[in-house]
Amino acid sequence: MPKILVVGGGYAGFYTAWKLEKHLRQGEAEVTMVDPLPYMTYQPFLPEVAAGSIEPRHAVVSHRRHLKKTRVVTAKVTKVDHATKTATITPAEGEAWEESYDQIVMTAGAVSRTFPIPGVADEAIGLKTIEEAAAIRDKILTNFHKAANLPAGPERDRLLTVVVVGGGFAGIEVFAELRSFASDLLKSYPELSFDDTHFHLVEAMGRIMPEVSLETSHWVLENLASRGAVVHLETQLASAEGGICQLKAKDDSIETIPSDLIVWTAGVMANPMVKGTDFPLEQRGRIRVQPDLRVVDDEGVVADAWACGDVAAVPDLTGGGVGGFCVPNAQHAVRQAKQLAKNLVAVIRGEATTDYKHENLGAVAGLGLGTGVFQSGKFAMKGFLAWGAHRGYHGLAMPSWERKWRVIGDWVGGFFLGRDIASLDDRETPRAAFEAFASRPKPAVADEPKAVAAPAPAEGQPADAAGPAYATPAEDVSKDAAPVDAK
Ligand SMILES: Cc1cc2nc3c(=O)[nH]c(=O)nc-3n(C[C@H](O)[C@H](O)[C@H](O)COP(=O)(O)OP(=O)(O)OC[C@H]3O[C@@H](n4cnc5c(N)ncnc54)[C@H](O)[C@@H]3O)c2cc1C
Repeated sequence: MPKILVVGGGYAGFYTAWKLEKHLRQGEAEVTMVDPLPYMTYQPFLPEVAAGSIEPRHAVVSHRRHLKKTRVVTAKVTKVDHATKTATITPAEGEAWEESYDQIVMTAGAVSRTFPIPGVADEAIGLKTIEEAAAIRDKILTNFHKAANLPAGPERDRLLTVVVVGGGFAGIEVFAELRSFASDLLKSYPELSFDDTHFHLVEAMGRIMPEVSLETSHWVLENLASRGAVVHLETQLASAEGGICQLKAKDDSIETIPSDLIVWTAGVMANPMVKGTDFPLEQRGRIRVQPDLRVVDDEGVVADAWACGDVAAVPDLTGGGVGGFCVPNAQHAVRQAKQLAKNLVAVIRGEATTDYKHENLGAVAGLGLGTGVFQSGKFAMKGFLAWGAHRGYHGLAMPSWERKWRVIGDWVGGFFLGRDIASLDDRETPRAAFEAFASRPKPAVADEPKAVAAPAPAEGQPADAAGPAYATPAEDVSKDAAPVDAK
């Protein structure tokens, strides 16, 4: 049986495996999908997760629950040697191993692309993973708790200032969603007022959201301005050291904005893991493919190798793509994956492949509860109807009814009950509460009888806090364990 190896289980990888399960006959091929994460992330929902409208777990799709005929491996592919058709798979625990394959599908996606701006790597957070979105949500909530205890002043301002870098779709969506979230939160914080919250978005270009018309982008700018959210166009982040954002305008003037939450959404780049492969890459680091999604080099098709999604430079046959290639988005990734699965099965059966061609359907964005924009060609919708279109489209596009219902459930719950504003920030240190009071073994004291050794203080506790209030292991043994043994 031919072995198909799918590298990556995100949008493109998950759909490739899912559709291969559908198209392959019993015993026709064996599919293995490898991803370091046990789930596919529905990235278009990340802004709504960050804003507390969707529960983090509901925006991801478990691989093992939905891929019943695929062998799922939760590990990283760290090397591919297509010349010998072997991939090196490195798990989080245990030894790496080499996996041989007959056909390979590369779908390792993209990662946040940053520039060497001082402070960004240490202070900012991206928005590519569910963990980042959940952390942003908790950070906002925790900062509101902290700010509510502080008098007006620079420290409180810093906690209530959000800076988003990048005015593309993802940046504007998260910026607008977080503004909506913060405005909602103020109802629960009588200590804080609207004027205490500050939202700044930094965009190097002279406009936002290149996917929509200039007119629609102006409407978005006006909408944000009316909600107290400032967009700095033709401005670059010069430094974020110590959380102090230095915004450099076109005229070289510098504005300084201290912030405790800097979200970086200024672009993505092909996953650098492709450098550990022998596949041909184009100048932007993506794998070169031809329109039927087979990998190509200067000599022609690289046999038995496929790629799609953000990691691949897929020619856009409609002529609409940037530089002649499909733009990296979910709309393409999911359709390319479906075509790729069909083509791969066709090749196994000795049939002809079909080129990938997809006319852009348009773009739809949620800008906070009740507001959105939709653009398809010259047709644009703004406000409440567009927001409805955003939720309708993405609600249906979420893979599997099991996940659709969970997300729709969150929306219905949110409508009747409001957002859930409990922060679980302490899950970053989940053992802290237990550790603070945990009894520890007595330290071994040379040449002294053990009975006189004092119980060890818990970590972070003063020495006299260790003993009297809680039973030590020694006491447990004498009072409880001994009688049980005696029985
Ligand atoms: C905030 C945000 C909002 C967005 N909104 C929209 C939208 O509204 N509409 C739209 O069309 N698009 C949207 N996109 C873009 C869209 O989500 C991506 O284009 C799409 O996810 C690309 O799919 P992919 O499978 O190529 O990559 P991904 O979905 O990123 O999947 C890549 C997978 O590869 C795995 N991987 C990484 N390294 C390895 C390795 N070494 N070995 C094995 N596996 C590996 C990753 O864990 C991941 O699961 C948005 C993106 C973001 C970040």
